[in-house]
Amino acid sequence: MASVIPVWSIPSVPVAGSADTFPVRRIYCVGRNYAAHAREMGADPTREPPFFFAKPADAVVPGGGRVPYPPATSSLHHEVELVVAIGKGGADIPADKALDHVYGYAVGLDLTRRDLQSEAKAAGKPWDMAKGFDQSAPISALHPAAAAGHPAKGTIRLTVNGDKRQEGDLSDQIWSVPEVIATLSRLVTLAPGDLIYTGTPDGVGPVKAGDRLDGSIEGLDTLTVTIG
Ligand code: MN
Repeated sequence: MASVIPVWSIPSVPVAGSADTFPVRRIYCVGRNYAAHAREMGADPTREPPFFFAKPADAVVPGGGRVPYPPATSSLHHEVELVVAIGKGGADIPADKALDHVYGYAVGLDLTRRDLQSEAKAAGKPWDMAKGFDQSAPISALHPAAAAGHPAKGTIRLTVNGDKRQEGDLSDQIWSVPEVIATLSRLVTLAPGDLIYTGTPDGVGPVKAGDRLDGSIEGLDTLTVTIG
């Protein structure tokens, strides 16, 4: 049997310090996982269970670089996030075993068409077109946990043209990485190749064509993206 259309290549992310790559199966994202960001979005940052949305796997922009200003928005926002790469699948994963399922970590940008998201929220409509557009998920090289460990604290920061816009600490996450994995794996079966963008600290804001974004997390590669 032959495929009736050309088969596309599997999106993949480089592995730091290696010629190897990590193939991407699915991209999940956590909403409102830092109290200060929840407040700036007008939400109550109490410990309600984490909620999730998704992006297509081919939304990744491996290693960053140039990202075109997307259509249908005049409010493209940056959200710098710790990304967890799943190396071992499972369902109903207990939090105290969750880190065994992690291959590694990266710096990611959850690019967001904020105007579309605001309209969707107001109308009770889904966020997909606000979040899951083409090239909406830039990601740095992955750092294997076997070498770099599991970062539970450390500065997460984003600058635009060298000016600090977002800064927080991973320890400020409302839901820790093990709790996020445990909760998500009760909703879907996780598999090797899944990425989880774990939410952004406060300070999100718009970018324009020509802007240079540098996202960083202590101990991981810096992710650089130029818009337009
Ligand atoms: Mn986000």
